[in-house]
Amino acid sequence: MVLEVLKFPDPRLRKKGVAVESVTPELKTLAENMLETMYAENGIGLAAPQVGQSVRLLVIDTRPRDEDGNIVLEGLTELERQVPQPLVVFNPEITVTREKTTYEEGCLSVPGFFETVDRALYIEAKYLDINGQEQVLKTDGLLAICLQHEMDHLEGKLFIDRLSFIKSNRIKNRIQKHGYPTADEVAEERSEARERRKAAREKTAVTAGSK
Ligand SMILES: [Zn+2]
Repeated sequence: MVLEVLKFPDPRLRKKGVAVESVTPELKTLAENMLETMYAENGIGLAAPQVGQSVRLLVIDTRPRDEDGNIVLEGLTELERQVPQPLVVFNPEITVTREKTTYEEGCLSVPGFFETVDRALYIEAKYLDINGQEQVLKTDGLLAICLQHEMDHLEGKLFIDRLSFIKSNRIKNRIQKHGYPTADEVAEERSEARERRKAAREKTAVTAGSK
């Protein structure tokens, strides 16, 4: 079932996610619906607060696809390839971060806006998978950036909160005054951003240049 994705300034996006005690059948269903919603919206990640659920749950699939929708593994870093995707992540905790990178991010809750955000280049994290099993993940690349972005949602934080004060306010005021761009405008912005991302992708790999 495709769920409604809340958009800034919906106050539910500001609520912190609560840790799950165990992965119940209801939470499994929520995770499956979130994956379906993410794919329907052409997103690469979605956190439970974005669908109005204050739970520490996020789903991710950063695998690049060609025009026919086939997964192109060459687009992934060596570390990213070792992580099984799609990822369903409960109660994530980052245990290690290394180096810094920047990336032009967007968000299904702030459609049509893309801005450069500072993130850690490499992360290690522990979490519970969809079967409630504890897992450890070590990655760089877009997967590391996406995980950090989605984990912000669990704290009620959006990527537009991480910009300079001036830039952040400019975007928030524009949305509150004029609303969001049309679906066509968003699609155009998104494809332009995708091209820019493709060019920036190498920068996000720890192992870049070593192959
Ligand atoms: Zn987001």
